[in-house]
Amino acid sequence: MTHRLVVIGADAAGMSAAHQALRTARRLGRELSVTVLESSGHTSYSACGIPYWLAGAVGSGDDLVARTASQHREGGIDLRLHTRAESVDTATRTVRLADGQTLGYDDLMIATGATAIRPEWAADSPDIGAVKTLDDGAAWLDRFAAARPGARVMVVGGSYIGVEVAEAALARGFDVELCTRSRVMSSLAPQLSARITQTLQEAGVTVRENCGVRGVDLQDGRLRGVHTRGGRVEADLMVVGVGVRPATALGDLPVSANGALRPDPRGQVGPGVWAAGDCCEVVNRVTGQWAYLPLGTHANKAGRAAGDAIAGGDLRFDGALGTAITRFAHGAAYVEIGHTGIGVDEARAAGFDPVWRLTEGTTASGYMPEAEPIAIWVLADRTSRRLLGVQVVGGRGAAKRVDAAAAVLWHEGTVDDLAWMDLSYAPPFATAWEILQVAARRCAEAM
Ligand SMILES: Cc1cc2nc3c(=O)[nH]c(=O)nc-3n(C[C@H](O)[C@H](O)[C@H](O)COP(=O)(O)OP(=O)(O)OC[C@H]3O[C@@H](n4cnc5c(N)ncnc54)[C@H](O)[C@@H]3O)c2cc1C
Repeated sequence: MTHRLVVIGADAAGMSAAHQALRTARRLGRELSVTVLESSGHTSYSACGIPYWLAGAVGSGDDLVARTASQHREGGIDLRLHTRAESVDTATRTVRLADGQTLGYDDLMIATGATAIRPEWAADSPDIGAVKTLDDGAAWLDRFAAARPGARVMVVGGSYIGVEVAEAALARGFDVELCTRSRVMSSLAPQLSARITQTLQEAGVTVRENCGVRGVDLQDGRLRGVHTRGGRVEADLMVVGVGVRPATALGDLPVSANGALRPDPRGQVGPGVWAAGDCCEVVNRVTGQWAYLPLGTHANKAGRAAGDAIAGGDLRFDGALGTAITRFAHGAAYVEIGHTGIGVDEARAAGFDPVWRLTEGTTASGYMPEAEPIAIWVLADRTSRRLLGVQVVGGRGAAKRVDAAAAVLWHEGTVDDLAWMDLSYAPPFATAWEILQVAARRCAEAM
């Protein structure tokens, strides 16, 4: 009999799982039917590209779609758009749909992602919204088109989405304020955060740090201002970028205190139930503890591993490091930001004895026109010398350096491994002693 896989959610994790399951089943000669339920009208799109679409760098929302619904269907998947799964009954192995129908499964893949957090103060107004889905992106383009030139856009949230959307709103010619509860990119070392703030300010963004939003000022439903800890700020539009939470309200699922699923490395959360992506926590490989790291990179990999396992394969998703990258660019103002591993507080909480150093240098040999400033923060454990985290802020070519550090972290290498491994050098790309390795060496010397 044909084995029935039902997938809930048709974006990164869900479609990776669906296609990999079919590939593996084909390879192993197994009969598999795959049905994917998707509540929206979209599939396989890059949410990561939405800020660049808003900025005008990407022509249309369609350009962000990696694979269309018809391509998925041609690939053998029964993809049902505008079909919401209401609840799951793992005992009878059924999914109840919003229209009252029930669908049976042999294996169920939960890939429902996350929903944008909407705090109480984010009142219902056409001028207030998140940037999470393609529909959000389209709504923001409409708002931008309807707004008067120089309208005041308040971006609430100083993490990477806030920074990227601030860039987009500036590119559209708006007057941009960024309001963040503590500091910009607060997971980074304070000196690195300060550099990002400075670049935002150089580009004309008014950065309000320690700026808790208390409420909004609406007139006839339209936004007029925002009440913050520091007082009232005039605003015409407000982007709410304060994070996401796992979308796991399907009943009957074993979730953590954070509401996330905790799949094993094959993706399994229970008998016949699998999960991947933003609805899940992942194991942080540095601490060995569960962490919520909602990123597309994990969704694609973990989804693929789960799809393979469902069909009888042996792929595994063995955790994450929290590696992330972004940039802010406007006119001459430019900064790249990269991060991997953990910070000081997490290191202490995990029982490490943290030592850290900040090192400054250039991205290329100082005599080359490409040379741009770069600051690298390295964290290691005094006892074992194990590398624990690396953060980078700097000009063009700076941020991708975290990938070399991530490779060392992945293999539980030491700060000495990072300092002495064989990295590339030529004057347009690096200094003879690559700055990442200088930073690692300085941290090693401080131990
Ligand atoms: C603006 C922005 C920028 C980003 N930039 C980056 C980046 O640069 N790098 C990076 O790694 N990550 C980035 N991310 C994160 C990345 O987009 C997500 O981690 C990724 O999309 C998660 O994929 P997913 O499949 O788990 O969930 P989602 O993409 O959220 O997909 C889940 C799908 O499930 C559907 N669904 C939910 N509930 C149901 C239900 N009950 N029934 C049917 N369907 C349902 C939803 O409609 C949705 O289509 C960004 C995210 C945003 C919003």
